[in-house]
Amino acid sequence: MAAGRAFLGAPCSSLATGARRLAFASLPPRALAPALRRRVPGRRVASVSSSPDAASAPEPYVLTTPLYYVNAPPHMGSAYTTIAADAIARFQRLLEKKVIFITGTDEHGEKIATSAEASGRNPKEHCDVISSSYKMLWADLDIEYDKFIRTTDHKHEGVVNEFYSRVLSSGDIYRADYEGLYCVNCEEYKDEKELAENNSCPVHLKPCVARKEDNYFFALSKYQHKLEELLARNPDFVRPSHRLNEVQGWIKSGLRDFSISRASVDWGIPVPNDTKQTIYVWFDALLGYISALLDDGEQASLQQAIDRGWPASLHLIGKDILRFHAVYWPAMLMSAGISVPDAVFGHGFLTKDGMKMGKSLGNTLEPKDLVERFGADAVRYFFLREVEFGNDGDYSEERFINIVNAHLANTIGILLKYICFCNMYILFMRAKTYYAFCLLSSHSVHFNYASFCVNNDIVLLI
Ligand SMILES: [Zn+2]
Repeated sequence: MAAGRAFLGAPCSSLATGARRLAFASLPPRALAPALRRRVPGRRVASVSSSPDAASAPEPYVLTTPLYYVNAPPHMGSAYTTIAADAIARFQRLLEKKVIFITGTDEHGEKIATSAEASGRNPKEHCDVISSSYKMLWADLDIEYDKFIRTTDHKHEGVVNEFYSRVLSSGDIYRADYEGLYCVNCEEYKDEKELAENNSCPVHLKPCVARKEDNYFFALSKYQHKLEELLARNPDFVRPSHRLNEVQGWIKSGLRDFSISRASVDWGIPVPNDTKQTIYVWFDALLGYISALLDDGEQASLQQAIDRGWPASLHLIGKDILRFHAVYWPAMLMSAGISVPDAVFGHGFLTKDGMKMGKSLGNTLEPKDLVERFGADAVRYFFLREVEFGNDGDYSEERFINIVNAHLANTIGILLKYICFCNMYILFMRAKTYYAFCLLSSHSVHFNYASFCVNNDIVLLI
């Protein structure tokens, strides 16, 4: 603790704001070029070149976090995804891209209604409270998103309705009875072969309940070959590569149609032409990535939203929702005749002191508390520096304090002190740039005064 507090007075803490405001012009183009040539695959490099063509055809870099489920306030996992997405967005802005960084909240479904009831509020009030807590945390963490979409926004509902109608016209929606074991927390039916002991959900470790419903289904099985072709043609669609193997395995083992409506859930968007049912949470929430592109108050039109910058360049998600993003979502888009995103990156989970975090274990890491104690810069730096991007990573308070003091307070702090003494204004501006790159770094950053050389796995995402 004492060491952590010592850091708070370090001179570098004020630099985050400066780095954020940094104009690309202050970074010598020649300094950035070697890193890009080494690390960045072709298409995106072209868009940062100084050629007139690149300037005349700006391609927005649309980056998304998941839309977080508002059954509970934000946890460290949500904060981690958003910090990483923010670092990528900052890097893309440094490359002078038009960045549209989308985040938001997923607010429909049975679990939300249950959480609202437990807290003594109606669902909308509950969603307002929890959604605000996300916005407050993102402000505390210095997250600079461009769009915050709530799935209870009017424009979103219009887009979902239009999308549903397109998929219906494609002949990919049908009605059928379904009977099976259902996990209320996942809000999905489970295959018996994937269940843990006592018919428990392998994610939530709670028993699934037998349920029978008359639902609408999406014909996912029709898209097996198209998805295989997509992954064969573009292996970078799912990253990192070990997650691609996982997705290929799911597809190879056969895809089952999935239910896209619920008869027993009132808190949701009604199915067009059948108001007795509401649209299944994923068939609703995933569309938020598109509806977010509309401006507030703009007419809810699917095509208009698409014209604002779709397809997304990158969906950044936790590995637990990979199946929805890398299998369900591209198939849904294909059915509606809409381009699939460029890439889906599934990062790992965080542990604390080497153990899985959980309320039942009493070892959760509250991002709000962490920011209040150590400040946004320290929290951002630690998780970007210490977690190898894509893999699981661990937090321990001792390591947190040591890393932050050693790197931010000592190395960068002393560098800046030296620069201030020398009164070398230009170098100072470059140091701020260097600090922005530090925030992007998941492993190692090499720095010298002659050039900026960033060796960074996040750069691979460009
Ligand atoms: Zn579950």
